[in-house]
Amino acid sequence: MTTPERRVGRATYEELLRLSLERGFFFPSAEIYNEAPAGFWEYGPTGLLMRNNFAREWRRRIVRKDDMLEIDGSVILPRIVFEASGHLSSLVDPIVQCTKCGTRIRADKYISEKTGLQIDERLSPEEFQSLISKYDLHCPKCGGDFGKPTKFNMMFRVGVGAEDADSYLRPETAQSIFVDFARLSKTMRIKLPKGIAQLGRSFRNEIAPRQALIRLRELLQAEVEVFFNPAAKFDPGRFEKIKEVRLNILAQNSGSSQSKSQTASEAVLLFGGMEIISYYFALLQEFYEACGFPKEKTRFRELSAADRAFYTTSAFDFEVETSIGWLELVACNYRTDYDLKNHSKFSKKDLQVVDGENGKVLPHVIELSLGVDRSLFSLLDLYFYHEQDRDVLRLQPNIAPYLAAIFPLISKGEIESKAISLYENLKLEDFQTFYDDSGNIGRRYRRMDEIGTPYCITVDHQSLEDDTVTLRERDSMGQTRIKISEIPEKLRTLRDQRNEPEVQYNR
Ligand SMILES: [Zn+2]
Repeated sequence: MTTPERRVGRATYEELLRLSLERGFFFPSAEIYNEAPAGFWEYGPTGLLMRNNFAREWRRRIVRKDDMLEIDGSVILPRIVFEASGHLSSLVDPIVQCTKCGTRIRADKYISEKTGLQIDERLSPEEFQSLISKYDLHCPKCGGDFGKPTKFNMMFRVGVGAEDADSYLRPETAQSIFVDFARLSKTMRIKLPKGIAQLGRSFRNEIAPRQALIRLRELLQAEVEVFFNPAAKFDPGRFEKIKEVRLNILAQNSGSSQSKSQTASEAVLLFGGMEIISYYFALLQEFYEACGFPKEKTRFRELSAADRAFYTTSAFDFEVETSIGWLELVACNYRTDYDLKNHSKFSKKDLQVVDGENGKVLPHVIELSLGVDRSLFSLLDLYFYHEQDRDVLRLQPNIAPYLAAIFPLISKGEIESKAISLYENLKLEDFQTFYDDSGNIGRRYRRMDEIGTPYCITVDHQSLEDDTVTLRERDSMGQTRIKISEIPEKLRTLRDQRNEPEVQYNR
């Protein structure tokens, strides 16, 4: 009898989705109800542990490393904030509705799909109308005629209090940072340049949410807004530290579809001589590499004027190559003084700050707007593999939901109590560990491989004699014996170990 040939290699998008649903990474919100709208997802226990690890690395390698300040602002903000920020008039998608069946679709996407033309989403409703007439386009569902194209605002409106005051769920976390800036600069005695960070939820009423964590209506962002004086020179000491970091950059006018590897120092030219941009790109690059994103699979892609958000003058997307193509993870925007200027105008408050000898300035802003959900999804995509006799998620130890699993070889007597006491100790030491005493050891290994647990520790008969256990490594499946007393120190070292490049993704 022969067993059927197994496909070996990276899992497909569908297989990844199945793993995520079945192993508690993420699943649709309110899924027991058919009425639940698309674009809302829950993090299950494994997904949340992974997300917490990712957030810890972000704080460690970006926020703390750069001495940034972190805040946590309100999710609901008054209408005037978004009048000032421009989101009320500019965060819009062009849509058309079928007059017969009521289907609503994105006008620009549909026209471009039907004609193969590049359609700018910022065309006026009249321009969309004439394109629809010119190409004689009809409803994709029923063939009916379209009504007049309109602009659909992607913000969720909220009525606050009995008076139903016009407010909105924030479409980006950045706005609270801008409106809080004056207070922060005073109370925290801010000296420019200074990064202010925020990790929190944002909301966008997407017309067509899709692909699980990739296009969500409720999303988690980790944003950094760096305030600086555009006339001041960037601190040479800080730049010195990162100038050799290599960045893959795909410039607009490069005439190539391949990105070019260059040092942060060389890249300054591409950023109009602004060392501060190069510095933060290098910080971001190092953070993503530390989370296990292979450098060869990431790039900074410069956006054309038509693709940029309405508030930026220069913009790059930090992207990763996944099984479904290049995916934007971080929007890196130069927002100039756009936001502070407008909030100053609408609030009638002076938002200038004193920058040492340079006197009063209205700071400019560089933004790193990071999509947490997408980043986690990409990590699952990069590291979920089929091998000949197992499925394995090769997440780096600093990101994996559990760092180690503890198994008693048999679940009774002294072996069991020794395993439980080891488990209790490791929890107290703040290691995220998992205890499993059901099924044979081989099956327990497979379950841990599937959720990415890098180390499994088994307490057996020999443990009772010499206080050692077996430590089994996920990727090599190699086993070593180690003294129980040495485990905490060993796990601390292993947690910060990077994946070997070839183990990362070449299987
Ligand atoms: Zn229709």
